[in-house]
Parts: sequence; C-alpha cells; structure tokens
Amino acid sequence: MDKMPVYIKDLEYLYKELKVFRRDLHKYPELGFKEVRTSKKIFDKLKTLDLEVHAGIGKTGLVGVLKRGTSNKKIMLRADMDALPIIETSNSTHASKNSGVMHACGHDGHTTMLLGAAKHLSQKSNFSGTVYFVFQPNEEHGLGAKAMIDDGLFERFPAQEVFGIHNLPGAPLGEISSRQGVICASETIFEINITGKGGHSSMPHLGVDSILVGSDIVTAIQKILSRKLKPGTGSVISITEFITDGSRNILPGNTLLKGDFRAFNSIDRINIQKNLKQICNGISKLHKVKIEVKFRNDFTETVNSKNPLSKSFKAAKDLGLKIIKNREPIPFSEDFAHFSKIKPASFILIGNGTEGNFANPLHASSYDFNDNLLVIGATFWSRLVENYLKI
Ligand SMILES: [Zn+2]
Ligand SMILES: [Zn+2]
Repeated sequence: MDKMPVYIKDLEYLYKELKVFRRDLHKYPELGFKEVRTSKKIFDKLKTLDLEVHAGIGKTGLVGVLKRGTSNKKIMLRADMDALPIIETSNSTHASKNSGVMHACGHDGHTTMLLGAAKHLSQKSNFSGTVYFVFQPNEEHGLGAKAMIDDGLFERFPAQEVFGIHNLPGAPLGEISSRQGVICASETIFEINITGKGGHSSMPHLGVDSILVGSDIVTAIQKILSRKLKPGTGSVISITEFITDGSRNILPGNTLLKGDFRAFNSIDRINIQKNLKQICNGISKLHKVKIEVKFRNDFTETVNSKNPLSKSFKAAKDLGLKIIKNREPIPFSEDFAHFSKIKPASFILIGNGTEGNFANPLHASSYDFNDNLLVIGATFWSRLVENYLKI
C-alpha cells in the first residue's frame, strides 16, 4: 500500500461508516439524471445531520446547507453522483449489481467524501458562515452542472467561490495536484453527414462513394492541429465512428462521421471548429456532395482562479499532503467547468493510489475508488471550510 500521508486524525472515526456508504453506492450505480436512489440516500444522510436540504435542483441534484455564526462568507463544495454505461469486470463483493452500469470514475467516492465532511462539520462550531454541499447529477455528459445552474443554483445559494475535487488513479494516495488557469480541456463533439450517391461497386464512376469522401475528411482534419494551431497547445481531434449504408458490393451513398475534439483554450476551440467546417465545405465542392456538420460543446474549459486555488493548496498543506502546484493540464473534460465560468473556482486532483485497481484508468471496467482516500478527502474538505470560515 502507498505510504499514508500525515493528516488530521480527527476524522478516522468516520472510516467504517464512509466505506460502507461508498460501497453501497458502488453496488447500485445510476446513470446521469437517473440518480434517484443515490439522491435519496444523500438526502436521508444530510437530514440525519440536521442540515437544511434542497432536493430536485437540476432534476436529481441536491444541496445541503450548513450555517454557523453570523459571517456572510459562503463557500460551495461540489461532488458528482453519476455512473457510466460500463460492464464492471471486477469480482469484488461490492461490484455493480446494476448490469451494464458502473462507478468507473469514482463519483461514489467523491459523494461519500463530501458527506463525510458534512457529518464532521455538522458537529463543530469552530467556524462562522455558510457551507453549501452540492451533489450534482450527470457529470459524464456535461449536463448536470448546467441543469443545476439553470434551476437557480447561484441565486438560491449565493456562494462567493466554488470548489471541486477529482480522484486521480495511478497518482500516490492523497497527492494533490492542480494548476492556475486551465486545468481540464473542453470537449466539442461533432457529426458530419455526407450525402453522396450509392451504386454498384464495379461502376464507381456512376455514383459518389461517400466512404472515399469521408476518408478525405478523416485525414484532412488532422492537419488542423499540425498546421492551423500554434504548436504544443495540446489539442486533440478524433473521428470515433464511421457509419455507412454500403454493403459487400454496394457503394455507400451516405456516411456519418462522429468524433470529438479537445482544446485547452477558447481560441483553439473556435479555430478548430472554424477549420473543420472549412475543410468539409472544400471537400463538398471537390466531390460535389452535400456535407452537413453539427457541433455540440457541452464541456467547456475548466479554469482555476488564483484565490480559491491557493485556499485548496493551503488546506492540503495543513494536512501534510504532498502538493504539485503546477501540473500539466489534463486532457479529460469536466462538467465543473460550468461552475468555474460563473464563480471563482478551484478544481484539484487527488491521488487514488498506485496499486491494483486503484491505478487503473478512469472509465476502465476494472477501476475502483480507493476507500483509504475517503477520510483523507473528507478531512481536506473539512479543513478547507474551517480555514475559509475561520472565526
Ligand atoms: Zn468520468
Ligand atoms: Zn469523473
């Protein structure tokens, strides 16, 4: 096992309770906007702590409110609740019972860590101000944060700053890493619809082979990264589906390409979109076919602001956790981006451990959240609040 970092021992009493809770969530994972059981369990838990609880915000989302003293300071802590459409391959006793659904991103752990902090803080009175514990649905599709914001999250719970955390498999247990500025990439998904002219495979000159047109697009768009963007910006573009109506000896008339691109700043994101459209227009003219392109940008870039991020680092330092303050931005995307666009925000990574399933990548069917991280995470949240709302 990784060497445990030095942390406040105060919350070790929560270990067993948190482990049982996390494993139960892991056994019964639910997809985005379907987190009904999960949401009810969180609701009941917050109620036992005597917190004010508001459910049904952004469909299955909920907010617990803890107030102490007279200070006007308000802090928002966010966890995510949803699972993924993956068949779990682990044979652990807490493996998923919901066939084809799995907590492969550790959101079961994120939720439990935040509940641990809520329990601990609800017993304390060494701070003054308001804590909003936010449990958001549907992070994986980039829709849950927006749904909560559209339901008036920040009007009803006017926090000054927002904080989020995500586990990082393969990094030493409890190691904190992040950076100021962009921490997670944006993701834009796209669909390219090619309408050519089907025909006999022996007489291609009488039709317009949409596979060939699609292939031109697949290779041409990679040139956007190498020739249209400043080198080294880290953007990625991928075609992930190539669907045609062709058959053994039938040239396809219709082809649908699907894919996504990631960018670490809005200039690159806009540039890639513009160039992709231009390439499709050019190839459309070249082959005399109709090409339609549609974009969706549910995940924008997640941006860390200086002040809240320094508060996260300070809390981690107080616990004796190892800290990497200027890590590389990470190429995956985070729904937390929507919060970071509206409020000064901090999003950090916390090591899930370097051994066994804890080191397997996020979204792998063999991944698992490390229960040894639960108390560390809950302690981190508690310390952040105690520092933030210091009397
Ligand atoms: Zn995920
Ligand atoms: Zn995640």
